[in-house]
Amino acid sequence: MDKSYDTVIIGSGIGGLTAGNFLAREGLSTLIVEQNLRPGGCASSFERGGFRFDAGVHWIAQCGQDGLIHQILQELGLEKEIAFVQIVPPLTVAISSRRYIIPQGKPQVITYLKDCFPREQSGIDRFFRLQGEIAGEMVRLFAQDPDAKEGLDRLYFHATFPLRFPQIARFHRREGAGVVDRLVDDGDLRKILKIAAIFPRVSMVLLSWFWEIIARADCYYPKGGIQRIADTLGDNFRRQGGEICFGKKVVEILCQKGQAWGVRLSDGTVIRAKAIISNADARQTFLEMLREDGYGEASPWPRRANLPKRYLEQIRRWRLSESFFYVYLGVDLDLKTTSVSGSPILWYFPEKKERGPLPDYVGMSVPSLNDEGVAPPGMHTVVIGAFADRICEKWFTDREGIDKEEYYRWKIQVADSLTRLAGEVIPDLEGYVVVREAASPWTFYRYTGNCMGASSGWSMDAKEQNKLPQRTPIRNFFLAGHWTFNPGGVPAAFLTGKRAAELVRQAI
Ligand SMILES: Cc1cc2nc3c(=O)[nH]c(=O)nc-3n(C[C@H](O)[C@H](O)[C@H](O)COP(=O)(O)OP(=O)(O)OC[C@H]3O[C@@H](n4cnc5c(N)ncnc54)[C@H](O)[C@@H]3O)c2cc1C
Repeated sequence: MDKSYDTVIIGSGIGGLTAGNFLAREGLSTLIVEQNLRPGGCASSFERGGFRFDAGVHWIAQCGQDGLIHQILQELGLEKEIAFVQIVPPLTVAISSRRYIIPQGKPQVITYLKDCFPREQSGIDRFFRLQGEIAGEMVRLFAQDPDAKEGLDRLYFHATFPLRFPQIARFHRREGAGVVDRLVDDGDLRKILKIAAIFPRVSMVLLSWFWEIIARADCYYPKGGIQRIADTLGDNFRRQGGEICFGKKVVEILCQKGQAWGVRLSDGTVIRAKAIISNADARQTFLEMLREDGYGEASPWPRRANLPKRYLEQIRRWRLSESFFYVYLGVDLDLKTTSVSGSPILWYFPEKKERGPLPDYVGMSVPSLNDEGVAPPGMHTVVIGAFADRICEKWFTDREGIDKEEYYRWKIQVADSLTRLAGEVIPDLEGYVVVREAASPWTFYRYTGNCMGASSGWSMDAKEQNKLPQRTPIRNFFLAGHWTFNPGGVPAAFLTGKRAAELVRQAI
């Protein structure tokens, strides 16, 4: 490994890999340091007993011909290397034994919901009228790239914002769930309209955006599994001359007089670089890794870098996005012929019974219906996901010193309960399980470094919706990934990775 580069990138999540691809393409010497043995972070997959499971991500927006991810892959010459399968129908909502299969197309969705809930016709019209207005404003807003505005341009943009984007200004901080409750009365319809955003307390603006994605079936799955994206980006990065160092953790980002100059790995190796990009957890980056090394490399007492107090306070204070508890099942059951779900993506709201520590609703996906190659012939993969804060508080942790025996006992109990719950949707599911794995917030923390297993960076709650600027108060030190965009997710990681590369190019 060379000890000096133009750029060092901490983490090979989609944000880090995208930044690396753009920099390597420019001929800049670039090293990505990744603590795991494979790239992808939250967007990676693992194999068990002939099944391939996606650790986190299950569908991705913006992969169609006019989508952001397609455009970025095209710029890198990679658009033909990943085949995306469109998920149609995009969503099934199961409420007790009732199934609502949401079709593709906004007019079709509206007609379908009116057929299912004839008494709610006017509420459905009012919801989708407002949703359409907000989504239309969002398309115009994205086209203006507000994050790129600076100086007077930025001031003018913010001053005139409510005039040009009135519905976004009005509904940006209002919870979508509250708007839904005002417009419709039926309990099932309320659940359906709210669940499109997945996360429970999002604003009406974000809920409208998610409905736009669902109604257009802008939901995709890469053939070969989610890992395919990171592998493609990683291979291309290396073809362009980039280096990836797996299984090594960055423990310090070194700076002097407010400028970043290198990183220190856990084995003590120091690597110099003209610019550093962190794709890692924001709290870890700023509260643990960033060091002012006023006494030179060999200093035994590096100090925390001199960052504005307010900047650090917000990083400590801002709420994180929710984490999940996942159960991964390999089943010897032909779900193609039993066709239990309508869509490979399903949300299930069980009848309220005495259930112990179980959530009000769970998400289920059957990735093998998108690509049968991820399971042995005739078999399928089923992934059950629940918001972890509905199940546990105790195992939200980023500490190592936990009671492992107690933890594994608890994990098996929760996995059993969630598998039983999924059995209410797929009859006799438990009897067909041949492989089972589970992941808690602690698992997600261990594999991604993301604080408390946060799934998508900062909270998307209407009252929060924070993001960090990609340019930091430290010179030549930038950020890429879901901590710099709200909502987080794979499209955000692609976009911010590309932008981080642009910032580095301007700086060095
Ligand atoms: C359970 C779950 C489900 C999700 N579902 C979806 C979905 O369906 N659709 C969607 O679009 N998004 C989904 N997301 C969100 C999405 O996966 C993430 O927002 C996105 O992948 C984040 O990418 P990133 O590049 O910001 O960073 P990450 O994926 O967090 O990657 C960071 C990388 O940095 C590495 N790293 C961290 N610290 C260090 C260090 N000190 N030294 C070296 N390496 C380090 C990590 O190992 C990791 O590889 C989900 C996330 C989770 C957890």
